[in-house]
Amino acid sequence: MPTDSAAPSGGRPATAFSFNRSARVALAADLGVTHARLAVADLGGAILAERATDLDISRGPEPTLTWVLDSFDDLLAECGHTRGDVCGVGIGLPGPVEHETGKAVNPPIMPNWDGFPVPDWLGSRLGVPVLVDNDVNIMALGEQWATQLETEHLIFVKMGTGIGCGIISGGRLHRGAEGAAGDIGHIRVPNINQVQCRCGNIDCLEAIAGGDALAAQLRSFGINASHGRDVVRLVKEGNTQAIHLVRQSGREVGSVLASIVNFFNPGLVVIGGDLAEAGDHLLAGVREVIYARSLPLATKRLSIHASELGDRAGVMGAAAMVIEHVLALESADQPGSA
Ligand SMILES: [Zn+2]
Repeated sequence: MPTDSAAPSGGRPATAFSFNRSARVALAADLGVTHARLAVADLGGAILAERATDLDISRGPEPTLTWVLDSFDDLLAECGHTRGDVCGVGIGLPGPVEHETGKAVNPPIMPNWDGFPVPDWLGSRLGVPVLVDNDVNIMALGEQWATQLETEHLIFVKMGTGIGCGIISGGRLHRGAEGAAGDIGHIRVPNINQVQCRCGNIDCLEAIAGGDALAAQLRSFGINASHGRDVVRLVKEGNTQAIHLVRQSGREVGSVLASIVNFFNPGLVVIGGDLAEAGDHLLAGVREVIYARSLPLATKRLSIHASELGDRAGVMGAAAMVIEHVLALESADQPGSA
């Protein structure tokens, strides 16, 4: 039985997705720095109720999770369920998470969450398992779910204020020894002159190609832009400087990904996050460099496309993380019944 119930992610069990639908539901929350998306899903993965809203995660864990709990109650009522139907909760956080304990570890953009026991806090109130992972990992899981396991080797790249990737290898999420796998945002970009990154280093990928970096460059041209979503809006309006910057951002990310493609040989690279809304201009830059610089064998069947789920990838993945966990526990409890 290969199931590791403490780290229940990755390949979907082949069992029972169609005939495990019942009254039971999973709660899912994708918590970002400034916005959140919450959902109630059935055990087949169908979303029964959903809410997207602004959120200031820097308020700290207790006010945020109290709000999450209240919102879950509202969503349960909306789809005719109660807390008694809930079999698990999946939470995505915008920072490094020690998955086994569900604690954020030195999260740079939410320092007051450091070490806070999210599973204990929510689990004691709901009486069900609570699984926590970083936002990029759950987005990768969501996308894997959406692609119906067409590929077992997938890289999900989130391009927002920061840049990171979730890695699915052999159908399972690869978190690394400390949960830090996929943190490509702080790989150094060569031939750039001393751009300061928030991590303390210079010339990191996200300091060059992330949403805030692009907005800052546009401001230096006298164009009003405060974050990545403004950059995307300008691209959609046809602003040529924004289009140029987004395409160059795609090339910078593609340059890092070209090495990763050679090393890891994924079947699919998915580009998601706010900047992915810029669409083909971004993808063109990514593809241009990956196909030029990766080995022909590694790109022979490689697909590179934008996230199918868009800003719902995280919440879908949080639900998938719980559903896989619950189904794995059940199949372990009932040998031979699956
Ligand atoms: Zn950095």
